[in-house]
Amino acid sequence: MRWRPPASIHTRLTLWYTGALLTILLVTSGFSYWLLAVALTRDVDPSLLGLAEVIRDSVAAGHGASGALEAAVGLDSEFRDHFVQVVDARGTPTYLSSRLEGRALPLSARALDNSRAGEQTFETLQRDHRQVRLVTLPIVRDGRPSELVQVAGSLTRSHRALARYLETLFVIVPLGLGLAASGGALMARKALAPVDAMSRTARRIKAEELSRRVELRGTGDELDRLAETLNEMLARLEGAFGEMRRFSADAAHELRTPLTALKGGLEVALRAARSPEEYRQVLGASLEDVDRLIRLAEDLLLVGRSRADLAAPRAPVDLEQLALEVLDVGAQLAQPRRVTIRIEVGEPVTVLGDVTALQRAVLNLIENAVKYTPAGGLVELTVDREDHSGLLSVRDTGPGIPSGEAARVFEPFVRLDAARSRESGGAGLGLSIARSIVVAHGGTLTLETALGHGSRFTIRLPAAG
Ligand code: ADP
Repeated sequence: MRWRPPASIHTRLTLWYTGALLTILLVTSGFSYWLLAVALTRDVDPSLLGLAEVIRDSVAAGHGASGALEAAVGLDSEFRDHFVQVVDARGTPTYLSSRLEGRALPLSARALDNSRAGEQTFETLQRDHRQVRLVTLPIVRDGRPSELVQVAGSLTRSHRALARYLETLFVIVPLGLGLAASGGALMARKALAPVDAMSRTARRIKAEELSRRVELRGTGDELDRLAETLNEMLARLEGAFGEMRRFSADAAHELRTPLTALKGGLEVALRAARSPEEYRQVLGASLEDVDRLIRLAEDLLLVGRSRADLAAPRAPVDLEQLALEVLDVGAQLAQPRRVTIRIEVGEPVTVLGDVTALQRAVLNLIENAVKYTPAGGLVELTVDREDHSGLLSVRDTGPGIPSGEAARVFEPFVRLDAARSRESGGAGLGLSIARSIVVAHGGTLTLETALGHGSRFTIRLPAAG
């Protein structure tokens, strides 16, 4: 089974923290142990040197070593445990203290070399499974070392102190680590408690109660900022949900009207026996209602499509070509209403996008223009290029739109004059669909209008190349 890191951040934090502390403690303990070991070993050196000097002076004065050693032991009983020997220039012992029990101390090449230069030497060596510290001091006569005094002392006491220090470390390090880990765990738990609280609140918020908000603690810290971000997201979700709900209600309402008309017509027809001509009339009227329903369903499908869908596939679209094709359809609508429709082309321009979707957007504008322009009026399409944009505008000499309503007409299901629109079959989705398509293509759809002076809808799209 593979090891998996613990799921909770606070456990992971505590583990990291404890691991880092353990490393620090081990390194500092090891270093301090080494420093202490060096210091304790060096501590022995002055007393060894002191004794060696006393013996050197005594031997140099011709009094021999044993008298000096006894005198020194008389001063400090600690010297009794020291090993003392005197050797001649070739290394042959001339005096061994009783503690040596006849076994001479070794004389290293380094000590011999140093002695020739008149210098003392300190060494650490093993004797009877115990470490001892040894000083070698030359006795200089006539400028040459004639004999060497060697004094050794046991390091047992230093080792005992070191062992005690190690024992202390074995207690202090785990204890300190344990305390620090518990403290760290407590701190991590306390610092992360608001996150737990936040996730509990977020879990309680369901689609029906999007008005609920995550509580702010007022500290202004990272967690408060996270809560604010969550709240902003909730507000956006709430808005989007509300819009969706309104949209569904409006859509259902729009569908119900033609369905009720359809049902009413069919019920009346069924109430009594009718002639084939009468049945044909009813079926004809019903077919019109069904057509209207199909158009509405198609519009609803378009409104429901995502931005990415509305602008795909992307291919070069010549705006003049597109306007001419849509103009044909517009002319068929305009003729029976005695509305003149014409086109004016400035600089040719190509944009990138989905030609069918763009045709649909322009057609919606032309349909509106023709629908709302009284007989004898004019609808004019203009295609032009301005800087890096392609412009396509639809101007009419219709009634215009009150300036206060100019922004609202782009919202779904908005009809300014319900009676007039219903009669002409619109559900108030045309402009909303046109704007969605244009925006999905990275463009804008704007309206300039004044009541009684007609309207001009302008599509502005980024030009290709
Ligand atoms: P509809 O299907 O009702 O035409 P639209 O979304 O296309 O829906 O338009 C919304 C409303 O904007 C229309 O009901 C109408 O009142 C107003 N409108 C749109 N185009 C024009 C225009 N060219 N002239 C006057 N009013 C317009």
